[in-house]
Amino acid sequence: MSRTAELDANRAALERRVVGACAAAGRSRDEVTVVAVSKTWPASDVGLLRELGVRDFGENRDREAAQKAAAVTGVRWHFVGAVQTNKARSVSSYADVVHSLDRPALVTALSKGAIAVGRTVEVLVQVSLDGAPGRGGAAPADVPMLAELVASASGLQLGGVMAVAPADADPAEAFARLAEIAAGVRRQHPHARALSAGMSGDLEAAVAAGANVLRVGTALFGHRAALLG
Ligand SMILES: *Cc1c(COP(=O)(O)O)cnc(C)c1O
Repeated sequence: MSRTAELDANRAALERRVVGACAAAGRSRDEVTVVAVSKTWPASDVGLLRELGVRDFGENRDREAAQKAAAVTGVRWHFVGAVQTNKARSVSSYADVVHSLDRPALVTALSKGAIAVGRTVEVLVQVSLDGAPGRGGAAPADVPMLAELVASASGLQLGGVMAVAPADADPAEAFARLAEIAAGVRRQHPHARALSAGMSGDLEAAVAAGANVLRVGTALFGHRAALLG
């Protein structure tokens, strides 16, 4: 099978899952954006999926993301990985959406970078749902403060919240907590409606909890090489 045929088959199977998850949750398919997380996969795959109608792509490392964003245009780029402060300027030069804001220093750095290139970058506050430091994400108690900082920073637009489900826990329970945090942010910032949650393994639970942005890698591209993912 050609790579195009393989990607198209994966895309069609994923679409059936998303449609099924929306139907099961009594939600409209139109509410949900799927971000194709292309990390470790070549820019040629991104180009093929663009031809198949996919418009949103996600990356988690600055150097790789910058190269693909330069190679493939006409799509929206989402940065979903931890942002080192010294890479923030680069990230804000190509990312349309940054999902992983988890500390005040990053607000300043992304804002400066966005202003420097005259862009507006949508920013989501990443929430840690397991309290484990190092995996990224802010403590739930810090989310309102970070949301306020983003909302008032020039060059940035507060989009909503994001989380990764904890490794060894029930994703439904974790996503329910995230949905409450997202609702709190929306009360203060009614336009910040993005709830980015759900990956290849848990997207049904995320849709059931109200996620409207799914970040899907493996189900679309296949299994990443172990050391690179
Ligand atoms: C890699 C990655 C994904 C995609 O994960 P899959 O399990 O391959 O679908 C989603 N979100 C983040 C933050 C990632 O790093």
